[in-house]
Amino acid sequence: MFKDKKIFVLGMGKSGCSAAKLLAKDNRVLITDIKCDDINLIKELEGLGINVIITKEQDKLIDDSYDYVVKNPGVRLDHPAVLKAHKFNIPVITELEVAYRYLPKVKIVGVTGSNGKTTTTTIVYEFLKAAGFPVHLAGNIGYPLCSQIDNIKENDILVVEISSHQLANLDQFKVDVAVLTNLYKVHLDFFGTYKNYKADKLRIFRNQDTDSVAILNKGDAEVYSLTQDIKAKKRYFSSKGDADICIEGTDIVYKGKKILELSDIRVKGVHNYENIMAAILVAKEFNVTDEIIKKVLDNFAGIEHRIEFVRRLNGREFYNDSKATNVDSTITALKSFDNEVVLILGGLDRGHSFEPLLPYLKHVKHIVCFGETKERIKGFASSHKIDVTVTDNLEEATKAAYNISLKGDTILLSPACASWDQYKNFEERGNDFKKSVNGLL
Ligand code: ADP
Repeated sequence: MFKDKKIFVLGMGKSGCSAAKLLAKDNRVLITDIKCDDINLIKELEGLGINVIITKEQDKLIDDSYDYVVKNPGVRLDHPAVLKAHKFNIPVITELEVAYRYLPKVKIVGVTGSNGKTTTTTIVYEFLKAAGFPVHLAGNIGYPLCSQIDNIKENDILVVEISSHQLANLDQFKVDVAVLTNLYKVHLDFFGTYKNYKADKLRIFRNQDTDSVAILNKGDAEVYSLTQDIKAKKRYFSSKGDADICIEGTDIVYKGKKILELSDIRVKGVHNYENIMAAILVAKEFNVTDEIIKKVLDNFAGIEHRIEFVRRLNGREFYNDSKATNVDSTITALKSFDNEVVLILGGLDRGHSFEPLLPYLKHVKHIVCFGETKERIKGFASSHKIDVTVTDNLEEATKAAYNISLKGDTILLSPACASWDQYKNFEERGNDFKKSVNGLL
């Protein structure tokens, strides 16, 4: 609990604002950002007694009178205001840490990893909810924990998605059941090196003790080797070999007993089997029955914008994977299909190479591209003799893809690029795609 403290909140994102609102009840709070167009938000914060300052020179606002700096997860670790806080020995924490200190005694399930966090977090939540537990979904998934404190009661269960940006400044936050899905080389621009990135991912285990549980991907060599020395009890899932839960032939087997057939699972791809197995291990810690697990999976059709099934039209199936903002995610999507695919690629140009896609394009009969990267994608496809069509926008790309496709094909939007050249975010892009698909006759 924070009381009568002077607190500096850096960044007016969702999490910063929710932390500021919670803290403002008993503390003096300043919140700052370089820009904020939302006048109503500023008014609301000011109405709660929060000092709102919009400035490019946030470091100039910090002096040694502050007790804490609450950093929005997206603010860089070497931001001048953060460096100045370190100079004054002011603890730098994140919104999750703030929330933690207001929580009654609860059980926390924390999910982190490079990929699969939102999917795994959501499935865990669905399992626990279906089993009748008082459970809350929170964290990076879009619901800051600070904004939910008033609804959380003693002995409730919190299922929290934790991004690596949030882990970087965790201090006392203790996770009872931690899930580490996998480790890929992403966000290196933020963390500097892969070593820093890995060190931060392991922070999820730091406050755990021998009563805690860690759910780990045995098929990911890095996850396996880096977690050898953690204190928690280890439970393993793997899509590649033997583990507490694993795939044997066409079955998912938990502790030697078949609990599901792969065909019982509606979402596509081995990566989703991994997410599901991780979630089942969490559910088993809370003694959720096989019947409930099966029932939940029977209804789980995936998460919006992540290889989301959109529509079947004249024998073609459309999938929206707008969340695939980099080449690795598109590879994951491509591995999820074995029939012929018309692939829609394109978006913001970060100068990244499309070459790593090549080994996964054997079943791609045609690429349709759009957005800032369209000419580079055309060059890439042509150089490998893959048929390619260039379009100006996603609506045109969707129509072109449909016209090229034949019965039995999959039309997949998995753009391998961020959306910001033409859209506000990947959600807007995905919704636009779905609108175009649903408009096809
Ligand atoms: P995150 O929340 O970690 O960004 P999501 O669950 O939102 O992950 O999935 C985002 C994308 O990451 C998916 O569309 C898919 O391409 C890929 N992905 C999901 N789960 C996994 C996994 N277990 N391993 C590898 N890639 C995955």
